Amino acid sequence: MYYVVCNKCSYTLYSGERAVNVLKTFQKYGDKCPRCFSRLSTEPRKIVVKGKRRPSP
Ligand SMILES: [Zn+2]
Repeated sequence: MYYVVCNKCSYTLYSGERAVNVLKTFQKYGDKCPRCFSRLSTEPRKIVVKGKRRPSP
């Protein structure tokens, strides 16, 4: 599984089977985290999780 998360609050912006472009995912949200409203475009972070591990909420 692939996860794109906010680097401030760890909000999951994308999770799915397919790898995605982090910046495109950010653009979908208007470059702002819908939860903490911090700008997303500065330090994109992509988490790739294989197997059973999931990001903590
Ligand atoms: Zn956030």
